[in-house]
Amino acid sequence: MTDELLQDAAVRFEEALPHARLSEDTRERLARPRSSLKVSIPVRMDDGSLRTFAGYRVRYDVTRGPAKGGIRFNAGVTAAEVTTLAFWMTFKTALMDLPFGGGKGGVAVDPKELSTAELERLSRGYIEATADVIGPDIDIPAPDVATNEMVMGWMAHEYAVIQRGHEPAALTGKPLALGGIPGRSSATSDGALHVIRHLRDRVLPDVDAPRAAIQGFGNAGAQLASGLAEDGWRVVAVSDSSAAVYDEDGLDVAKLREHKSSTGSLGDAPVGEVLDPEQLIAVACDALIPSALEGAIHGDNAGDVRARVVFEVANGPVTADADRILDDLGVDVVPDILVNAGGVTVSWFEWIANRQGDRWSEELVRERLEERMLAETRAVADLADERGLRLRTAAYVHALERLTDAVDATGTSALFGQSR
Ligand code: NAD
Repeated sequence: MTDELLQDAAVRFEEALPHARLSEDTRERLARPRSSLKVSIPVRMDDGSLRTFAGYRVRYDVTRGPAKGGIRFNAGVTAAEVTTLAFWMTFKTALMDLPFGGGKGGVAVDPKELSTAELERLSRGYIEATADVIGPDIDIPAPDVATNEMVMGWMAHEYAVIQRGHEPAALTGKPLALGGIPGRSSATSDGALHVIRHLRDRVLPDVDAPRAAIQGFGNAGAQLASGLAEDGWRVVAVSDSSAAVYDEDGLDVAKLREHKSSTGSLGDAPVGEVLDPEQLIAVACDALIPSALEGAIHGDNAGDVRARVVFEVANGPVTADADRILDDLGVDVVPDILVNAGGVTVSWFEWIANRQGDRWSEELVRERLEERMLAETRAVADLADERGLRLRTAAYVHALERLTDAVDATGTSALFGQSR
């Protein structure tokens, strides 16, 4: 692996390798990204000064199709982080059998420090700086941390200005008015619900009204809490960055969502007992569902986990150290590349609709999402049974074997761009 790949990704990859049917070509192809671009984005600030932000776009692998992956705006963004996330996107798109490779982008900026007009200039500047390496057949960005529909709208418009023509399939996660797709905002939680429903009897046999603790009460976590409550789960704890709320009999999720949307936080919640957010990890429950941050369950707190299964809705919420501790405790971990793949799957639908000049109904989106999520969840569970693997390893192996089939099918000449 390149020294750019963060340690956790390298460890997970190495763990899966012995269990996968993998060619030497694939191992070599996945050892480093296909292309990495670092750009400087000059932005005129509202006070008249000029500030320059560092931006990145990485295409990790494009054997199965154009790169696909979000753009994040975060103060701590680095080349290594973007590369690692692009590496995992390669696995996620392969796992879901989408006709894409893996990519990712980011800008090192604290978006809260920018006015809306500055944010728009930065978003347009990012596209101006990367326009040569994105496009419907090359690399298709989408939203990620702190980039939303509005940002995608600015970016899609800027791309059209540069191309002097509409190319809606160049970016996904756009507003509906600019070729977005219905159901995108609930896609991640809907996808996670399908995975959880399908695996429930396997990971929690003989539990009638299972208890869930959900870290993160944002777009993904809050919608998932409602879905689980409707499915008969007891949502015993939820948290955001300000507080955790707990009730062993199950919280009134609708009330909490109302409170969060009117006050912006879970502090002073009208139901349940308010705890420190850090305490959520240690709550007695059947399923722990981290839906906030990377690395939330780590070597120092994994031993406190009292759940029987962890469903990773956030990207990379369990570190490799924590993974080993959870394994020793007998806690199953269902990995992010499966659990949160609903988002990229619905992005695929948006790309298809845009390329066909079509509009999809929300009903069609839901139907196709369920079919995709169930097919791959079944495939991962079957592979785990056949080869005696943990669900996490089985998911990586399933993706790796799809990648190896694609790499081998390209042949050596095509792969290295050499003529015969
Ligand atoms: P969001 O910003 O809407 O919500 C994040 C939530 O986490 C907020 O409620 C925030 O208060 C909470 N939070 C932050 N720090 C916390 C802490 N220390 N303890 C407890 N809660 C904390 O983000 P989102 O879109 O819901 O995404 C959440 C996670 O899911 C991220 O890891 C993201 O990468 C992943 N994900 C999201 C999507 C999607 O489509 N939304 C798709 C794939 C993966």
